[in-house]
Amino acid sequence: MGTSIVLFRVFDIEVRVHWSFVLILVYGAFMYGAGPAGPLVGAAYGVLVIILLFVCVTLHEFGHALVAKYYKVRVGSITLLPIGGVANLERMPDKPMQEFLIALAGPLVNFALAALLLPLIILVVGMQVSAGTVQGGLWQVLRGTLAGAVQPGVSNLLVYLLATNVLLGLFNLLPAFPMDGGRILRALLAMTMPYVQATRTAVLVGRVFAVLMAIWGIMGGGIILMLIAFFIYVGGGAEREAVESRAVLRHATAGQALSHNAISLYASERLSRAVDLIMNSYQTDYAVLDLSGNFIGVLTRPRLVAALKSQGSDARVVDAMLRAEAVPVVTPATTLDQVWEKMATSASRVVAVKQQTQFLGIITLDDLSEVFNVLGAALAGGDRPTPPGEKPQPGEEQPAPGHAADV
Ligand SMILES: [Zn+2]
Repeated sequence: MGTSIVLFRVFDIEVRVHWSFVLILVYGAFMYGAGPAGPLVGAAYGVLVIILLFVCVTLHEFGHALVAKYYKVRVGSITLLPIGGVANLERMPDKPMQEFLIALAGPLVNFALAALLLPLIILVVGMQVSAGTVQGGLWQVLRGTLAGAVQPGVSNLLVYLLATNVLLGLFNLLPAFPMDGGRILRALLAMTMPYVQATRTAVLVGRVFAVLMAIWGIMGGGIILMLIAFFIYVGGGAEREAVESRAVLRHATAGQALSHNAISLYASERLSRAVDLIMNSYQTDYAVLDLSGNFIGVLTRPRLVAALKSQGSDARVVDAMLRAEAVPVVTPATTLDQVWEKMATSASRVVAVKQQTQFLGIITLDDLSEVFNVLGAALAGGDRPTPPGEKPQPGEEQPAPGHAADV
């Protein structure tokens, strides 16, 4: 995400914030600025409330992220958006029990925070009661605090955070895939049925919730609820497609996907030769060999286009190619779903296939797409999901990595 900035980094996880987060701070300032405390104090309090709210959201995301890391799933970053946070996991673990625990950890953090806040609130309010700064018994004061939480004050703030954490925990547990509750549902279903079928069922249940939420939003629940409904509807579909794609690609190996008539380029050749080749075949990415036939790099279509613009067609292939060290390596026995995953985690549209040190060929995202179309047609019949290569991605085409999203 190019429009977010890095706030800090802990446990090797970047915490980023999207620029639109500023909007929610402004919203908080306006909401509380219009309250009884007056515009200035109210606005400052509003900003504080929103920041603390997002501290809780961040901790929730760390709940997911740290359990994921425990199961050896790499977590690239946590991004804060106005409607919540997203922990970017490189993949979802295959074992349903692990996904279950990763999903559950987020809401559990919120319940734990609430459990920590409760004695603190009783302490603070108890002190106020005994010091005589507020009138009435402990429960009376607590009830009043809950009702008047918009007013600045320590106990009001603590009560607000307690209520928010309970609500955040419960809301995320709604079985609306890809929200946490939906992931828990998918994991539970996956223990009794195939993963693809479990995902389809969870997405369907999630979409029912999305429609209900959208209706509630239109009836007066607010724009945020409608945004969340949209996110559930679209996000669920996208993830179902990814799961279906992986299930199809699992049926073939890298060795089977290698094209035996693929053309290679030599390092000293000019870019004009690559242009000729692209014009006369469907091949868009070329392995580059040295004079002894060793694999030294790949000339991908985006690289070729960029080099033609900056250096012209007389430039040499070796100066435009992606060096072999930067190309992920797989073996002929690697299944294509793992190849796809490798491309996603390394943000590369190409992998090299090697048997020990012997170079056998390259596989590109386009090749995966091609295999997918053939296999998908053979396996799934009419109900075909989107091939991985056809998903719109920023920059060079990349398959979408798995991610855990939240509100
Ligand atoms: Zn969550």
